[in-house]
Amino acid sequence: MANKRDYYEVLGVTKEADVAAIKASYKKLAIKYHPDKNPGDKAAEENFKEAAEAYGILSDADKRARYDRFGHAGVQGGGGGAEGFSNFEDIFSAFGDIFGGDFFGRQGGGRGGRGRGGPPRGQDLQIALTVTLTDVANGVTKKVKLKRFNKCATCSGQGGTGKQTCNVCAGQGQVRQVQSSFFGQIVNVTTCPECQGIGSLIKSKCADCHGMGRRQEEVTLSIDVPPGVEESNYLTLRSEGHAGPQGGPSGDLIVAIKEAEDETFERRGVDLYMQVEVPYTTVALGGDIRVKTIEGEVDLKVPAGTQSEKLMRLRNKGLPDINGSQRGSQYVKIHVHTPENLSAREIEALKELERVQEKDHPKSFFQKAKTFFT
Ligand SMILES: [Zn+2]
Ligand SMILES: [Zn+2]
Repeated sequence: MANKRDYYEVLGVTKEADVAAIKASYKKLAIKYHPDKNPGDKAAEENFKEAAEAYGILSDADKRARYDRFGHAGVQGGGGGAEGFSNFEDIFSAFGDIFGGDFFGRQGGGRGGRGRGGPPRGQDLQIALTVTLTDVANGVTKKVKLKRFNKCATCSGQGGTGKQTCNVCAGQGQVRQVQSSFFGQIVNVTTCPECQGIGSLIKSKCADCHGMGRRQEEVTLSIDVPPGVEESNYLTLRSEGHAGPQGGPSGDLIVAIKEAEDETFERRGVDLYMQVEVPYTTVALGGDIRVKTIEGEVDLKVPAGTQSEKLMRLRNKGLPDINGSQRGSQYVKIHVHTPENLSAREIEALKELERVQEKDHPKSFFQKAKTFFT
């Protein structure tokens, strides 16, 4: 942690920069230093992590305020951005919501990987995954079935034998047509009709995949969802998308997190809200009530004289955040239940209570009435 650079300096923004400016700057750096673009470059990797960490702090109003006041010491260990991430996938699972599925513009057509030569990259695959609040609390591994292009096992993805560079597009997979028009020359780039954009042709095609080197199959995947995810977060599973044609690299699987409605809890960030019905005798006399939490039931002490609609807090019974650095609270709203269908004995007891109260607390009842009407 020695010699850490100033986060504003890392992102190249001023101390007054707004969230949009910070996000824009981070996105630029993340794309520039992304390991995909700088394979094996340690310095780029460090820059990438550093930018992610700075972004993690400066994009969060609370953490930014702490950092502004106390510097690095104020945000250490706590929400230390990339500190808690073990690898790049984690960074994207946390920041994925900013970029969405097509962060690298590799969607559609799978042409993005072309820069390195060879057959094009397979398309990314997007799925939605519904998680419960219990899943969010603990993390979960979910099995999903999906259909995707897999490398053809028969030809090991090669599509057959006798591979030749397509002579129509010279292996580019694209053809340029130049048209002259009133406005000047218009260049049209289209997928090569000869090789369908693959860039090569197979002389002796594999019978199982018809020369494509990939086949649509149903696969079952295990997806690890880390604790603390939120609706509209994305997890990126590298190379779990469609296989590229004729041995091209696979696209990614992009998992959009959906949060299932919960019948007990309402989530607000890392905090959970719920309401309990409490007998009026309990709020008057005080007592323990059983309360559902995300980890099972606990006893909650209701003090004597608790008013209806009071919000009570159970610390650390909420949800973890995505960094695993903090856990929210559970808020329990006390709703006093007015009894119905009283028995004769209960009515008698309550009438007796009424008589006692009028004698013992005549003034307080009068004052209550007054505040109600003013
Ligand atoms: Zn094949
Ligand atoms: Zn071609």
